[in-house]
Amino acid sequence: MADRVEFISGCPAYGCDNGRKSYNWEHHNCGGKEWLDQNGYLECQKCHLRDILISWKFRCNGHSDFREVNKEKICEILSIASSIEKGSKKFKAKLLMAVANMIDE
Ligand SMILES: [Zn+2]
Ligand SMILES: [Zn+2]
Repeated sequence: MADRVEFISGCPAYGCDNGRKSYNWEHHNCGGKEWLDQNGYLECQKCHLRDILISWKFRCNGHSDFREVNKEKICEILSIASSIEKGSKKFKAKLLMAVANMIDE
C-alpha cells in the first residue's frame, strides 16, 4: 500500500485566500476524514471514495460553494501543508511530483 497521510492543508479552491490556513478536510457526503497518498490520490477514510486530488472540489469557511482546485497554487499549498510536513521527505517529493504531472496533462 502506498504511503499516505491524513489530509490537513490550506484551502486549494479557486479564488480562495485561505491557502495558508489549516483545515482537516472532511468528505461532505459522509463526514469521513481524508487520506492523501504519495501518488496524489485523495481517499475518504469512511466511504473510501478515491480519486486524484485535483478532481475533488473544496469548500471552506471563506466560500459557501464547492470549487475546483486552483492548479496554479496547489503545489505551493501542498508544500506547506502541516500533514505533509509530518510525512517523510521522500513522501513529500513523490507527492509533489505526482501532482505536478497531473497538472501538466
Ligand atoms: Zn466519504
Ligand atoms: Zn476556500
